[in-house]
Amino acid sequence: MLDIYRRLFAFYGPQGWWPAETPFEMCVGAILTQATAWRNVEIAIARLKDNNLLSPGSLVAAGEEVVAELIRPSGYYRQKAKRLIALDRYILSRGSSMDWLKEEDPQRLRQELLAVHGIGPETADSILLYAGGHPVFVVDSYTGRILLRLGLIDPPPDYHRIQQMFMDELPKDPALYQEYHALIVALGKGACNPKPKCGLCPLGDICRALPESTFPRG
Ligand code: SF4
Repeated sequence: MLDIYRRLFAFYGPQGWWPAETPFEMCVGAILTQATAWRNVEIAIARLKDNNLLSPGSLVAAGEEVVAELIRPSGYYRQKAKRLIALDRYILSRGSSMDWLKEEDPQRLRQELLAVHGIGPETADSILLYAGGHPVFVVDSYTGRILLRLGLIDPPPDYHRIQQMFMDELPKDPALYQEYHALIVALGKGACNPKPKCGLCPLGDICRALPESTFPRG
């Protein structure tokens, strides 16, 4: 796992994730990025920012209709507005300074986040890692696809099994986890697509990918 990280870092360089000015903005981005490209998230975040809706409590106060309209560019905007307001309500209940996100036990916070409407393991772990600074590895669909192709896991990809694999093998270093996840996304977007561009990949010599026609899709 460390060898793969070093190769990806040498190839793509630092990714600077998560691009957010505050923990609250990071949490909002984690919901908005569900099932959409980041450029759409940036537009939605800018619209919220222009309307002073990027601080704890502001989304609850604005209401679902207003939030939905502003985040329309991110897709699934009605569903995401509900999720954002549920998350904002949770954050308000814990304290708007958001220091608790860094200070409290990540396992307990994870259980609380998973109980919030619309928050699954990937979103919860993204918040814990990037807003809370906890050593919790984030797994996404790129991670599963790449590990399958490298021959490091058996199908089907399982979120918690993959997460445990990374966390067992890597030092408990939040900065490393933050960079590693971002680098996996860079590889997933840049080379290891559904139809992979293996000539652009720094892992070619250690990849046990099957012939292209048998690659898992999606
Ligand atoms: S060599 Fe090809 S299939 Fe293997 S990880 Fe790289 S891009 Fe994906």
